[in-house]
Amino acid sequence: MNKSSIGDLAILGGTPLFSETIHVGKPNIGSRDRLFERMNDLLDRGWLTNNGPYVRELERKLAELTGTRHCIAMCNGTVALEIAARALGLSGEVIVPSFTFVATAHCLQWQEIRPVFCDIQQNSHTIDPECIERLITPETSGIIGVHLWGTPCDTDAIAAVASRRGLKVFYDASHALGVSHGGTMIGNFGELEVFSFHATKFVNCFEGGAIVTNNDDLAEKIRLMKNFGFAGMDNVIYLGTNGKMSEPSAAMGLTSLEGMGEFVAVNKANHLAYTEHLANLAGCRILEYDENQKNNYQYIVLEIEEQEFGIDRNTLVKILHAENIRARRYFYPGVHRMEPYRTLYPDAAQGLPRTVDVANKVVTLPTGKAVDPDAVGRICGLFRFLFQNRDGIRAALKRAA
Ligand SMILES: *Cc1c(COP(=O)(O)O)cnc(C)c1O
Repeated sequence: MNKSSIGDLAILGGTPLFSETIHVGKPNIGSRDRLFERMNDLLDRGWLTNNGPYVRELERKLAELTGTRHCIAMCNGTVALEIAARALGLSGEVIVPSFTFVATAHCLQWQEIRPVFCDIQQNSHTIDPECIERLITPETSGIIGVHLWGTPCDTDAIAAVASRRGLKVFYDASHALGVSHGGTMIGNFGELEVFSFHATKFVNCFEGGAIVTNNDDLAEKIRLMKNFGFAGMDNVIYLGTNGKMSEPSAAMGLTSLEGMGEFVAVNKANHLAYTEHLANLAGCRILEYDENQKNNYQYIVLEIEEQEFGIDRNTLVKILHAENIRARRYFYPGVHRMEPYRTLYPDAAQGLPRTVDVANKVVTLPTGKAVDPDAVGRICGLFRFLFQNRDGIRAALKRAA
């Protein structure tokens, strides 16, 4: 234990627990040599974009990994989401969770489709199928589920509502690459699923995304839409956009994908260490993964119950930041509290009690290669210290304010 008195806390003038900041979401780069090899190759080839060999190789490998018939790589996850909504012909209203990254809603609003915010399940943090049912109107055309933190949605219940009410479903699987659900890989649920390969994601392409689907016609349509609607030289048959992935991005993606096994192992060890260290600490719950399934363990998600832990989540985050531990309040305060939704739907929170509660409790902790079990032990030691000294710390912070 590195803190022996309250005055040792960095927020109260002590020395930070870590001399250098440890981040949430340090990128998985893989082998730098392989990356530079590929970069040299693609420069030698002079084929920098437009469905180059690395993009096609990445698409093949992602289809293999997810066990899907088609993978279409794109410039980022947000454009992939926009194209997904358009390719499925969504219009009017689409039901989405508010507890997600803002792009899940923006992909709809950007094309004048109204996102209707749905509450989540308390334990899984994923969209609640019962709430979906209550939000359906004659204008509803679809549902976007988000496998938040790599936790799969209740896909069976969502499929049941959707088929009963004639709605299209697709999934924002930005967090769920390499995850399985009921023995089936994520990628095979709904009409299609969307991945993001942003630098902070599990596999990174600098910027990148992809749609996977088992529907041949839909795949064809998406391929055209991401390339301006070109169906061959001089022949445009749809309204399209430029959603193409570049070769350098695919080269990064292939390299990052090769490092994935190692990355999962590191994250899994970190998750296990956090879980064991925090097991009996009052008011701290680490989100569990279903150990019977494949997981990527990308996020360490902690829920803080202020009443039990004795320090509220926001104060905790300030204390951690002072110790150079970059904890984050992901996805606070919920998309419904961000513009333009906040102005458009000022009363949205009334229908989102669990979203509001969870958004006020969650903090994500550092993992990935920036962290090892020893660092996890020190972070968790700090949590125990905070809990044991909660009354004194609260008083000292009040005095310091
Ligand atoms: C990262 C993310 C996106 C957006 O992906 P980009 O590749 O950054 O455009 C969408 N949805 C969720 C849930 C995300 O985490």
